[in-house]
Amino acid sequence: MHIVHIAVEMAPIAKVGGLGDVVTSLSRAVRDLNHNVDIILPKYDCLNLSNVKDFHYHKNYFWGGTEIKVWHGKVEGLSVFFLEPQNGFFHVGCVYGCGNDAERFGFFCHAALEFLHQNEFHPDIIHCHDWSSAPVAWLFKEHYKHHHLSKVGVVFTIHNLEFGAHFIGKAMTYTDKATTVSPTYSKEVSGNPAIAPHIHKFHGIINGIDPDIWDPYNDKFIPVSYTSKYVVEGKKAAKEALQKRLGLKKADLPLLGVISRLTHQKGIHLMKHAIYRTLERGGQVVLLGSAPDSCIQNDFVNLANQLHSQHHDRVRLCLMYDEPLSHLIYAGADFILVPSIFEPCGLTQLIAMRYGSVPIVRKTGGLCDTVFDVERDRDRAHAQGFEPNGFTFDEADVKGVDYALNRAIVTWYENRDWFNNLCKTIMEQDWSWNRPALDYLELYHAARKLT
Ligand code: ADP
Repeated sequence: MHIVHIAVEMAPIAKVGGLGDVVTSLSRAVRDLNHNVDIILPKYDCLNLSNVKDFHYHKNYFWGGTEIKVWHGKVEGLSVFFLEPQNGFFHVGCVYGCGNDAERFGFFCHAALEFLHQNEFHPDIIHCHDWSSAPVAWLFKEHYKHHHLSKVGVVFTIHNLEFGAHFIGKAMTYTDKATTVSPTYSKEVSGNPAIAPHIHKFHGIINGIDPDIWDPYNDKFIPVSYTSKYVVEGKKAAKEALQKRLGLKKADLPLLGVISRLTHQKGIHLMKHAIYRTLERGGQVVLLGSAPDSCIQNDFVNLANQLHSQHHDRVRLCLMYDEPLSHLIYAGADFILVPSIFEPCGLTQLIAMRYGSVPIVRKTGGLCDTVFDVERDRDRAHAQGFEPNGFTFDEADVKGVDYALNRAIVTWYENRDWFNNLCKTIMEQDWSWNRPALDYLELYHAARKLT
């Protein structure tokens, strides 16, 4: 099969959140199953071109009265076409936040389809993502379905229904198949007016992570390579490096990590509570996060000032986006907290497990499908072919957080051998794309048949 993704994010060169990770890692998994994958991406000025191999000018074409330069290169081994309209749409900003994003991305979607059309590309599947490339679904059906692209199936993935519901509803009408990123989230949103009329073509497929990109045995950002067999030694070295780098007390204390966009969705009040509770219980906390909203960012700056002065050797709030630091936190933390109010899939808990950090999560969306409480979810875990792998809570309130966090910290202090064994177990669980990529291929075949 030949699959073309039209997307506005792609890790690591243009990543804002999980959507960027999925475009790259799903594509690599499908390619590894011997299929042909291309990605079409805007050429933002902010792209980190040092991560693009063989970057070169490919061609130009005209669409809508605008010249579009096309560049080509390889990102994580994947073929990527970069579109650079000469109207300057992508010379400003970095991915989102330009005020006219709907116009910019609408233009990009149409230009990408025109690129396929003018180049006589014959993909089997065009895969678009979220509101930002949702226009592909209806533009394709309205303008291209009758050309040589008539045999193309369109697949649309919703990574987060919170943004651009209007665009998503329109894409749901026109797409051949639609997915969202976990079975539980697909049930949670099934009554949404954008989804409900199209439920027959809507599927929940859990995201995976790319085990080569997130690999504690081969990670240049951590001090000692480790596999599950040496999880204790590897994580000890990473914790010490993290403590040193952030100026925290070098001591064997339970360390809670949080790596997150700081938005309402992610459970900000619950993060704050967990920070105080962990400090009260003698632990350390490292939070890495950035807030798109300046009020929230300022609030965290104030909190950081206060906490850093009160507990300067036990807590650090790093209010920025920093991929290398995220690797060191995943490796050096004992626990990673994901207290989301809602969570379509969540990658953080999967990456945490790959590095042997125990997830503490609220039981919602994809967090519910991937984290099984060590006390409460044994049967549910076994039914999915997994061993229990973390601590969960139900309600989005401080009592909920306490319930999971207290059990985690007490276990760390009182039952270290058991805890270390849990770290080993979770590292050995397969949360890669192995299973989900096969589900996507089945769906691609089904979408193609509908054309
Ligand atoms: P979302 O897409 O809703 O933000 P996900 O859990 O699906 O949440 O994906 C988050 C991704 O972004 C993970 O790879 C996580 O490590 C990364 N991430 C989030 N915040 C930061 C940050 N401040 N610095 C580095 N990486 C971050």
